[in-house]
Amino acid sequence: LNENIQKLDGFLERFRETGILNRIAGKDVAGSAGTFANTSPVDKSVICDVAHGTAKDIDTAANAASDAFAKWRDMPATERRKILIKVAEGIEARAEEIALCECWDTGQTMRFMSKAALRGAANFRYFADQVVQARDGQHLKSPTLMNVTSRTPIGPVGVITPWNTPFMLSTWKIAPALAAGCTVVHKPAEASPLSARLLVEIAEEAGLPPGVLNTVNGFGEDAGKALCEHPKIKAIAFVGESRTGSLITKQGADTLKRNHLELGGKNPVIVFDDANLDEALDAVIFMIFSINGERCTSSSRLLIQDTIRADFEAKLVARVNNIKVGHPLDPATEIGPLVTEEHFNKVTSYFDIAKEDGATVAAGGVTVGDEGYFIRPTLFTNANNKMRIAQEEIFGPVLTSIPFSTEEDALSIANDTPYGLTGYVWTNDLQRALRFTDRLEAGMIWVNSANVRHLPTPFGGVKASGIGRDGGDWSFEFYMEQKHIGFAT
Ligand code: NAD
Repeated sequence: LNENIQKLDGFLERFRETGILNRIAGKDVAGSAGTFANTSPVDKSVICDVAHGTAKDIDTAANAASDAFAKWRDMPATERRKILIKVAEGIEARAEEIALCECWDTGQTMRFMSKAALRGAANFRYFADQVVQARDGQHLKSPTLMNVTSRTPIGPVGVITPWNTPFMLSTWKIAPALAAGCTVVHKPAEASPLSARLLVEIAEEAGLPPGVLNTVNGFGEDAGKALCEHPKIKAIAFVGESRTGSLITKQGADTLKRNHLELGGKNPVIVFDDANLDEALDAVIFMIFSINGERCTSSSRLLIQDTIRADFEAKLVARVNNIKVGHPLDPATEIGPLVTEEHFNKVTSYFDIAKEDGATVAAGGVTVGDEGYFIRPTLFTNANNKMRIAQEEIFGPVLTSIPFSTEEDALSIANDTPYGLTGYVWTNDLQRALRFTDRLEAGMIWVNSANVRHLPTPFGGVKASGIGRDGGDWSFEFYMEQKHIGFAT
């Protein structure tokens, strides 16, 4: 822990001196509304000042992205590929710095953020390898025509990201946008600006031309809104809350913006009594108590068959009580502090809501110390699906356990939320798994597995969890336009 704290101190020194400036057209630019303070959730101390960007800065950045677009679009694919591979190498070389800064900024733990930084590199490598064929089209012969299709990058795009695993999520959007040939204006979450600054530096050091990736810090209702409304920005790739997704859609209406929305979830993990219960228990724990539970794909509702409920919940309580809450830079820590005071207040408010609704706090339900925003991992039992703890996205290390009796019962509970991001099904009955997954309303489902991401597969949600898919060629569908040309034969 001490070694990590010392290293972090070295990495943060420059930010303390200069603050975090916006980066537009390859230059550091102050925010037109001055600065705002960035604090750490670990001890509430100020980390550094951050440029407070507004509509004015977004306009400068959108113009920079627009000016840089033709050159980046027309650069030979092999050249663009080389630059993106170098970005991946740059991320790998600075992975420790990224992870340490991310933990201090967000409260996420080193245990998970060291892997998330490398996932950022993997995202760049994966999409770099798609650059050469990304624009390939088809030749479709019809009786009187040779029909040719091709794809071209849509233009400058806006990327708006949240504070949970911000580096990994930013690369997940920015890498395919750049690989498609788009230029980018990135508006990172106001609560976690550090790693976005590291990313733009790494990208420029790798040879990304000025203006291809621009970073403007600021708040959603001001800088974020202006990005959605800007006429030179052709599409918005957004990750965040469902209600913000609605705002993004409204704000982009006048300029007919194309939007990709990756939103919230209240994901069920359904455990049938015929499942491998030891493996299911591990997965249930992992999918809600890793990454501080601040994870869109977390399984925050456990649907447990009533025949095994008592035993499974007893084991769960013992495991949850053993989870180590502590300093996020300590490699042994499993759960760090929640990201901000506002989020801490939101998550802890559910401790009372659960009791008022008649559920039992079987584990946790308490805060830890008062130095930072720490809570104990929490399990609510004796819940039903009508309760707010079963319907609302809490977005913390908080699990609600709900019993079911039959397969039909489980399906109707699972589908009875506004959300539909992921689902996890544990059963050894193959036919049941096929029936159940067919009718489960979710964009992504794992059977007898936790969430294991495979980059070529589609990632995204249904219902209030989002519109659109990332991953593989689906990313290029979003960042590119299809063109058809018919040649008379
Ligand atoms: P948020 O919606 O509050 O903020 C996300 C980003 O949107 C921030 O950069 C914010 O400044 C910006 N923003 C806010 N209002 C805006 C507006 N009017 N116009 C433009 N931009 C605006 O979300 P958050 O609290 O930072 O993140 C947590 C949420 O993100 C959770 O709901 C979580 O489920 C979701 N999330 C989803 C996925 C996914 O892939 N589906 C992944 C991670 C997080």
